Amino acid sequence: SIVVTGATGKLGRHVVEQLLEKVPAEQVTAVVRSAEKAADLAARGVRIAVADYNAPESLDGVFAAGDKVLLISGNEFDKGRVRQHEAVIDAAKAAGVALLAYTSAPGSLSAALADDHRGTEEVLLGSGLPYTLLRNGWYHENYTENLAPVLEHHAVVAAAGEGRVSSASRADYAAAAVAVLTGEGHENTTYELGGDEAWSFAEYAAELSRQTGEEISYRPVTTEALTGLLTGAGLPEPLAAVFAGVDASIEKGELVVDSGDLARLIGRPTTPLAEAVAAALKG
Ligand code: NDP
Repeated sequence: SIVVTGATGKLGRHVVEQLLEKVPAEQVTAVVRSAEKAADLAARGVRIAVADYNAPESLDGVFAAGDKVLLISGNEFDKGRVRQHEAVIDAAKAAGVALLAYTSAPGSLSAALADDHRGTEEVLLGSGLPYTLLRNGWYHENYTENLAPVLEHHAVVAAAGEGRVSSASRADYAAAAVAVLTGEGHENTTYELGGDEAWSFAEYAAELSRQTGEEISYRPVTTEALTGLLTGAGLPEPLAAVFAGVDASIEKGELVVDSGDLARLIGRPTTPLAEAVAAALKG
């Protein structure tokens, strides 16, 4: 069967939804921490396996020989994500799965955020399992789900200078994962995934102005200033530094992905940022 971890997360839900358009529900297994959170999926016939990346024994019996597995990276930055992901890779290896696809980060990204992804890639390649690296670029939603302060202050604040980002929607990245899980010939392949168009924060502010009819401008700040703003908003210092580090990477062009892999895998152009903005403004 096709097994998706993180299935009750935002990306995971897109993946399961799109899988159900292609394969019968009984061929899909959702690996989740909370069966309650996955009750809607169970009701539609998806097999539910309850497991936690922090408890390797909970992963026993989740995978079977021949499965195609999507390991969606976790979000517990302080819990040692490489070790967490390794527990999943070990269980998949022990079961003899046919493929393990992992949601990684662009190869060009040098920010600290990428360290766990590089570490996981190493473990996966070392495992000898047939793998697919889905090196996901940035989500549109990282920005469009956080519009409230932007609209309030009429300012897009970032420490990215004139840097550009080729973001795409979560649904686009999910479609790429589904193409790999339901298709053939993706073994031992690395995909650099990003949106067809790279945009700058000034262009993002201009798009917001166009769609809201209000004057919204880009306010570039230093990495230190952004870290301060984020901690001021309640983010723990280490996490604020990680996010500010991403902006520094953007300034250096590290989140521009121009491989064309995403559009090729999904067989259509990627979703434009303007569309994600419109969806977010509609609320
Ligand atoms: P979410 O935070 O919505 O989903 C994270 C998923 O990981 C959830 O399903 C969560 O389970 C699961 N998870 C976390 N810790 C564990 C654990 N210990 N054991 C089992 N499952 C666990 O993020 P998204 O879906 O939006 O993104 C998926 C991943 O992509 C993120 O976790 C992160 O690694 C990365 N990411 C990428 C971004 C990008 O722009 N490319 C931006 C942000 C994140 P539960 O549903 O129970 O909470």
